[in-house]
Amino acid sequence: MSLTELFKTKTVFSLEVFPPKKSSPTEAILPTLKRLQSINPDFISVTLGAGGTAHCDGTVEIANLIQNKLDIPAVAHVPGLYQTQEQVLALLDRLDSINVKNILALRGDKIPGKEPVGVFNHANELVKFVHENRPDFSIASACYPNCHTEAPDFVDDITHLKEKVDAGADHLISQLFFDNQAFYDFKEKTEIAGIHVPIEAGIMPCTNKNQIERITQISGVPIPKKFAAIMDRYQNSKEAMLDAGIAFAVDQIIDLVSQGVDGIHLYTMNKSKIAKRIWDETQSVFEASNLSKQTENA
Ligand code: FAD
Repeated sequence: MSLTELFKTKTVFSLEVFPPKKSSPTEAILPTLKRLQSINPDFISVTLGAGGTAHCDGTVEIANLIQNKLDIPAVAHVPGLYQTQEQVLALLDRLDSINVKNILALRGDKIPGKEPVGVFNHANELVKFVHENRPDFSIASACYPNCHTEAPDFVDDITHLKEKVDAGADHLISQLFFDNQAFYDFKEKTEIAGIHVPIEAGIMPCTNKNQIERITQISGVPIPKKFAAIMDRYQNSKEAMLDAGIAFAVDQIIDLVSQGVDGIHLYTMNKSKIAKRIWDETQSVFEASNLSKQTENA
């Protein structure tokens, strides 16, 4: 079943991982992936070039393990900023050869001091190119419930988001957020703009203060008072911070699923034990939600 079809039948649950460093063997990630397999996610996406560190080979190799060794649909991230048309087509061919037909088409993180190629300056150009040249691929794109940091305002950002969808994006995955109301307001804006593809909510459990401060600084995502208090109170206890970060994410997920979200994309990255704990605490709400979706569709 294609991912687009899957969204019609259930509340999708997906995970994201990053490839190991170039110096580590690909197989080093296998125990992590095996633990993620026990969760049985609907798909696992693999980053490429996030923060300017990863490499294309690693993404293809990990996508191969996910798709063919774990038998879980893999989604390969494809950032366009530093690629030519030929490089994108070659990457799609490599993915095709390992039976991976799902990509997340992105502009990509800017690498300080590195000049973009100038072909895919924005994600909508890459989505259009892939859609026209490889219509057999399913294309996801990114969206921003707290507005993209470079956008002058929400109207501008949502206008460009609509361009990505019109160019052929089948579904959207949101950047992480900590305030569900921001996601609900954003969802309303997308509906007014005529964006009707499934939108997965991106949830990142923050389990240490430095991590969250770095991420919110890069992404511009605000930290709600409730979460700031948790960090202040528990930052010196690794265990308490872990428990509180997981509980906060679980709380977000239960609320989102109860409001009929299309899917949850968990940014636990390679921390499979955290992903497993979150899944164990939310599995029943996904199952209950899927049951009522099936009844509605019957
Ligand atoms: P775009 O859609 O191009 O948007 C970027 C900015 O440009 C926005 O402000 C938008 O409003 C504006 N804009 C869009 N189109 C136009 C246009 N036609 N004209 C003028 N302005 C326009 N980065 C990586 O490098 N590797 C990864 O693996 C990776 N994975 C990610 C996964 C997810 C789920 C998300 C949410 C982000 C990921 N990123 C990754 C980060 C992403 O590359 C950055 O957030 C980047 O800044 C924007 O990417 P985009 O695809 O949303 O860009």
